[in-house]
Amino acid sequence: MLNFDLTEDHRLLEQTVREWAGREVAPRIHDLDRAHQLDRGILPQMASLGLLGISVPAKYGGTGMDYVALGIASEELEYVDTSLRVIMSVHAGLNCLTLLAWGTEDQKQRYLVPQAQGQKIASYGLTEPAAGSDARGIQTVAVRKGDRYVITGEKMWISMADVADHFLVFGWTDLEKKRQRDVSGMSAFIIERGFKGFSSGTLKEKWGILAGNTGCFKMDEVEVPRENLVGNEGEGFKIAMFALDQGRYTVAAGATGLIRACRDASVKYARERKAFGVEIGSHQLVKEMIAQMESDYQASRLLWERAGWLKNIGRRNTRETGLAKWFATVASERAAGDAVQIHGANGYSDEYPVGRFYRNCKGAVIYEGTREIHKLMQADYLLGYRVDRPTRCELPAWERQ
Ligand SMILES: Cc1cc2nc3c(=O)[nH]c(=O)nc-3n(C[C@H](O)[C@H](O)[C@H](O)COP(=O)(O)OP(=O)(O)OC[C@H]3O[C@@H](n4cnc5c(N)ncnc54)[C@H](O)[C@@H]3O)c2cc1C
Repeated sequence: MLNFDLTEDHRLLEQTVREWAGREVAPRIHDLDRAHQLDRGILPQMASLGLLGISVPAKYGGTGMDYVALGIASEELEYVDTSLRVIMSVHAGLNCLTLLAWGTEDQKQRYLVPQAQGQKIASYGLTEPAAGSDARGIQTVAVRKGDRYVITGEKMWISMADVADHFLVFGWTDLEKKRQRDVSGMSAFIIERGFKGFSSGTLKEKWGILAGNTGCFKMDEVEVPRENLVGNEGEGFKIAMFALDQGRYTVAAGATGLIRACRDASVKYARERKAFGVEIGSHQLVKEMIAQMESDYQASRLLWERAGWLKNIGRRNTRETGLAKWFATVASERAAGDAVQIHGANGYSDEYPVGRFYRNCKGAVIYEGTREIHKLMQADYLLGYRVDRPTRCELPAWERQ
């Protein structure tokens, strides 16, 4: 039997995150955004709420909640600001859940536990200056030397690049396969900020998610112990894609929160603002935009919930997660554009939050698979050009205990 009710735990989580973000972040977000500043003080607060290890089992320092809980938290965080949800996407989604599935016990103890407890912040480095959608085009190489790998390369557009302590990084261990663009020559590594040869920077010219950190990092012959190889040599691409199945899920749920924020701000403004002697909400074309936001919100919510449910039962969900991410992010762009429209000239200033929503939403239509890449993916499934084989799937948190 289908059941759309949240459990008591989910409801409590929703309320807790909503209250915390509304109380601690919402009143300051305008200033943080204007200052182009990530407030690092937010991280320990998120840790104390258990958000940084939300779907990690208690034995690895997490809260042991399920994937629906991760979706709820992502939606509530992005309702206030995208920068908050991005922390969840890279730290919890792309990194922690990937280490949980692919890491060795030693890696889990050394990296996942402090991450889940929020003592260390983690990020994910796949994109490079010359390779985004085309991940096979990355140039980073990892050369095996005895019991270490020597990694050289540059990663670009990395969320939390200048903040994170640990990075899940991808590079080629087989140079012949690199030449042939055969992804079975790619491997994944854990790199610590303190490793010699590692340096990072912040991108200054970004125009959205300004209260978050986006940057780049360089690895100049960084020596990485063999124990930091994640999975086996040659499994890096598979691991990178597995990570995206987790990250995209948080992006989908987050974009859903942004649509809701646009809807709520628009409803409020439409009741306050008058034009032609009546509230603008009584003009049919304004109603149409608000109605569209509601349908986009509800549809996006159902799509991420279905993906979360599939994750909870440990079933492959690349297709469903991709659809949820694609639909919600495109819909969030529409909702943010219409929210600005409903606010008229006031929407075109930072006096109201909708301008920030408009600047923030676009990133998600680009990262973790662009709109076009997701469209291709969905068409390829239908056309039979793409079939997912079973992989290490996402087992429910309680089964991982
Ligand atoms: C705010 C932000 C945060 C990010 N955080 C991270 C992070 O933490 N870690 C990380 O690794 N990366 C991160 N990224 C990078 C992001 O994942 C890439 O930007 C994304 O994958 C797209 O790559 P690209 O920018 O190189 O665009 P390109 O791949 O160069 O694409 C340019 C355009 O061409 C289109 N295109 C490309 N190939 C095709 C095709 N085959 N068919 C049709 N159209 C195509 C694209 O859809 C796009 O419209 C972040 C990006 C942003 C903006």
